[in-house]
Amino acid sequence: MKENNRKKISRYDELQLFAEVDGVCPNCPTILIGDKVGKKRKDYEIAHIYPLNPKADEFEILKNQEILNEDLNHIHNLICLCLKCHNEFDNPRTLEEYLNLVKKKKDLIRLTKEKSIWINSNIENEIFQIIDFLANEDFDFNQEDILNYNPKTIDEKTNSTITKLVKRKIHKNIQDYFNQVKSKFRELDTLQPGTTETISIQIKQHYLLLKKHNSEKNQKEIFDAMIEWLNKRTNNQSYESSEIIISYFIQNCEIFE
Ligand SMILES: [Zn+2]
Repeated sequence: MKENNRKKISRYDELQLFAEVDGVCPNCPTILIGDKVGKKRKDYEIAHIYPLNPKADEFEILKNQEILNEDLNHIHNLICLCLKCHNEFDNPRTLEEYLNLVKKKKDLIRLTKEKSIWINSNIENEIFQIIDFLANEDFDFNQEDILNYNPKTIDEKTNSTITKLVKRKIHKNIQDYFNQVKSKFRELDTLQPGTTETISIQIKQHYLLLKKHNSEKNQKEIFDAMIEWLNKRTNNQSYESSEIIISYFIQNCEIFE
């Protein structure tokens, strides 16, 4: 077997790998920049997920398994781990740990890709008023006009990737807030005609972009990514409000048509 050379990782690749895990070891909750007597220090190493030069037994263990990139020094085959987890991961090599880390890395690659399309999707400033309204209004959930709706629509549109718990949350959001959000949109339309339509199109466009990039058509991942995007776009004002708005647009068919 030919020997692969270890390549020096560029500063930018290292920054990207560090940012990808949010500065926390993906295998345990260790923070990757440590503090020793007031001095910051690097508490991580960059691990090859598939070993750069597998020993005969490692080669055997990982035979026929997925490799994230043919170039073993490619950023997709690298991940930041704390020193302890890196050592445990390499010694001894096990199939279970390998598959586990491959799965984690694939999620990280997907999340990075989702972020890269944020830049293409705008949303009108009026959305801030809906976020603010949901976050700060005192709603009376006992009133008559809470939506009495047929949950079948959601059930028919969602696939098995949406867990029961998530489905329940979407149902609840629609039941409690659908009418409120709808009338708020109407109010915005009287002030600025076309607001609802523009925002609906923007939501739909971002959904389609995510769907296009999600090869597995995993609705749960798309649902989470929609909320994450809307929350970021609205300066992290209220994650819960973003969840309610995304649920609203599922019922309204912009998402999961
Ligand atoms: Zn760790």
